Amino acid sequence: MTKILVIEDEKSVRENILDLLEAEDFDTIAAANGRIGVELAVSEVPDLILCDLMMPEIDGYGVLIALREESVTANIPFIFLTARAARADFRQGMELGADDYLTKPFTRDELLSAIASRLSKQANLTRKVSTFETQTISPKAQMIEKYLRRTLERRHFQQFLVYYQPIVDLSSGKIIAAESLLRWQHPELGMVSPTELIPLAESTGLILPIGDWVLKNACKQTKLWHDAGFHELRVAVNLSSHQLIQPDFSQKVMKFLLVNDLLPNCLELELTENIIMQDVNSAISTMKEVHSSGVKIAIDDFGAGYSALIYLKQLPIDTLKIDRYFIQDIANDSQKAAITTALIEMGRNLNIQTVAEGVETEQELNFLRRYKCDAMQGFLFSRPLPPAEFEKILFANKQLNV
Ligand code: C2E
Ligand code: MG
Ligand code: MG
Repeated sequence: MTKILVIEDEKSVRENILDLLEAEDFDTIAAANGRIGVELAVSEVPDLILCDLMMPEIDGYGVLIALREESVTANIPFIFLTARAARADFRQGMELGADDYLTKPFTRDELLSAIASRLSKQANLTRKVSTFETQTISPKAQMIEKYLRRTLERRHFQQFLVYYQPIVDLSSGKIIAAESLLRWQHPELGMVSPTELIPLAESTGLILPIGDWVLKNACKQTKLWHDAGFHELRVAVNLSSHQLIQPDFSQKVMKFLLVNDLLPNCLELELTENIIMQDVNSAISTMKEVHSSGVKIAIDDFGAGYSALIYLKQLPIDTLKIDRYFIQDIANDSQKAAITTALIEMGRNLNIQTVAEGVETEQELNFLRRYKCDAMQGFLFSRPLPPAEFEKILFANKQLNV
């Protein structure tokens, strides 16, 4: 039975919610203030928490912070109940890692639908996290997580860096875009690679503040390059599922573009199929919203995930990034060649740009040219670079020979 903890200081509201939940056969526990709420969350480990924002002593934020610090309660879905639809409250709650919020008074249907949506998301996430944990929850991963929490709590964002890797047009040989790639330079751990950092940050929800920071910085950097004369340069930013399900995600994107005076079409958001599949409906609606304002959408690592082609039809996609696996040694592997040429062909027919990822050799490059892939990215042309280095190759007009 699903156990729900209700933390609400107003007796009548609390009892109303409990009646509603019990009528739906949920197992319920109740707390009349934040302190008892935190204690019950730790001792009972409910499947979901509904928590009032405004309470005396420990308020909803205090409860959420305390829960996120305890490993047993850190990942319990958390829905805020608020009497005010104030944006600032909402934003602060989401930044702290709340999963959703409901403005009082809410209807029975609104409450049940928010609960159902969070529980199904959690089920997906738990499945992902449990495979992740059995594979890699090593002492090193635990240590990285501990330091990451500390870095974020202290807001030491200066430890994060964004590197940029050029994406090159295969017919002109020119750099058309830069993919932003996160790096974490920790004073004790040294440089932590995204392949270690990102899955961990995803599974703990810590990706949210980091992802937003990358997006903000990438927009700022793009503006600097546009002002330096590279007006056409597009910047790609990788997204996580946590970012995509934020209700105010598209407003956030538009804000970053606006404050930097950037046109939406110079930003491309990269999503993997796995991220989309975690919550297809919300991904489709958010992507449509962002896309309608002009921002570009790329499917990253295509072919490495679920590859549900049906979504290619429903989603507003501008770019397909063919996973590195298919590119590696493509000229000598007839199966990879068959799949990649089919993807290039499909892209052409659907008016979707194809980008080959992880191009390392001339042989791979020649194959992609022969089959008219639109663009390439890979160590052969350049590794991901710090902004100052990237700028150097822009000014030097570095190009692929065509
Ligand atoms: P991705 O988005 O597919 O990025 C491409 C990755 O391939 C980068 O790894 C890049 O360094 C690497 N790469 C590029 N060319 C080559 C090549 O020729 N050969 C090989 N072997 N590798 C190449 P990186 O920077 O380690 O990032 C790994 C992944 O971490 C990214 O894969 C992306 O999924 C994720 N990531 C990086 N930054 C962010 C971020 O800001 N937010 C989120 N959500 N994810 C990020
Ligand atoms: Mg990417
Ligand atoms: Mg990729």
